Amino acid sequence: MNIFVVAGHQYKGKDKGAVYAGTTEARQAVEVRDEVQKNLLDTPLNIELDDDTLNLQDTINQINKTAKKDDIAIDIHFNASPEHNADGVEAFYHSSNLEMKSLAKLIVNTISTFTGMRNRGVKPHTDIPNRNGYLKYTNCSALIIECGFLDNKTDNTIILNPILDDAIAKAISDVLIHRYAPEHAVKKAENASQELVEAIKTKSNELNQLIEKL
Ligand SMILES: [Zn+2]
Repeated sequence: MNIFVVAGHQYKGKDKGAVYAGTTEARQAVEVRDEVQKNLLDTPLNIELDDDTLNLQDTINQINKTAKKDDIAIDIHFNASPEHNADGVEAFYHSSNLEMKSLAKLIVNTISTFTGMRNRGVKPHTDIPNRNGYLKYTNCSALIIECGFLDNKTDNTIILNPILDDAIAKAISDVLIHRYAPEHAVKKAENASQELVEAIKTKSNELNQLIEKL
């Protein structure tokens, strides 16, 4: 199974998406995308990235060259609103794809929990151009994540904070691991608890040595 992780718009092209406070939607999307890939490197999931020079249609064509029905394409975006007053994270899925509806929900809930951004929920595709071209024309399951409003003060502070920015990527990769590589999640948890046991053993040995010296 392949998971295509796409940074919305064109980091190295004309369409930068929303532009605000010295950054662009395309740039922030690339940061999240690359961090998601990094988080998934040692997992059994096969991640394919988009080409930053391609526009929406060429990106869809590129995905469709290799995408199989069971694959998933995740398109990462940031939002903007005319009055700069909307905030929160949301996702769009194709109305006929309930698997993507539940994946979208998990991702949005987790991003909201990890970052504190408002949870705007998930929405089936409507006929907004561009936004749904991606959902309609990819040969595999697809969803669009809008990871907060770039032009909103609160969201912008979160998006431009390196730690919280990584938390957005961590939310996405954690959900993908738990859903599509659960054995890996279990192994990681086991390793973490083993490390904790070892750390406690070392500490208690140190403590015993101290007590003996008293
Ligand atoms: Zn966008």
